[in-house]
Amino acid sequence: MKPDFSFDCHVHFGQYHHLYYQPSLVVKALHKSGVRRAWVSSTTACIAPDSHEEAQYLSCHIDEEMQEALEEANGLKMTLVPLYWAVPERYCNLDKVDGSLYAGFKIHPKIGEWGGKTGNHLLHEICDCASRNRFPILLHTGVDAVDSPSRFERSFAAFPNVTFVLAHCRNAVEIVRLFGKYENLLGDTAFCPAESYREICRAGFQPRMLWGTDFPIPHWYERTDDAVTLSVLTKNYRKILHRFKSLS
Ligand SMILES: [Zn+2]
Repeated sequence: MKPDFSFDCHVHFGQYHHLYYQPSLVVKALHKSGVRRAWVSSTTACIAPDSHEEAQYLSCHIDEEMQEALEEANGLKMTLVPLYWAVPERYCNLDKVDGSLYAGFKIHPKIGEWGGKTGNHLLHEICDCASRNRFPILLHTGVDAVDSPSRFERSFAAFPNVTFVLAHCRNAVEIVRLFGKYENLLGDTAFCPAESYREICRAGFQPRMLWGTDFPIPHWYERTDDAVTLSVLTKNYRKILHRFKSLS
């Protein structure tokens, strides 16, 4: 069984290194590629502001990006779930998360310090808010100690009614162990090695795997020049889809 390709649980827009991915353009590319539902967050959140004022400015800018994406999706009859990309030590104004704009969280353990007092507090606040509102949490996972999914195991156990989606499923052994232990965990296929995906499926967890692409980050890695147009983006999305279908 393949994942549902009309729902992409891992999409971004915004500033990514030197390129800007216009929210409306990303949404149009998704629609042209057959996506009808997506969880979206802005990589503009990765920019480290120099001051509180700059942090506020960025925060407003990200909200505007999200509005733009939602308006575009509305016109195309697509459903977007806006994820609030939380970063410790910065504009962790959680009040807006309970508002009307955001309906989930994105956490990247390597963006900001999640081990310290502020990070731990923010993590708890996020889980608590997600639990109250039934919001999902998309959690980046990697192979280093700092982004190993096991690092967050206490939260998985403490918030059994919160769905955590382990982005990238790094690594398969850890994912299989955690899936076996916690029913509130899902994984996504974004940058997930084909062998890891197969290993997770062999362990019987295929139904827990969501289609996720990290789009347009694959475009950033594979680009031959810096032109970001609708046709370039659509072509890239289709390539990701085709590659997954042929490898998995
Ligand atoms: Zn991502």
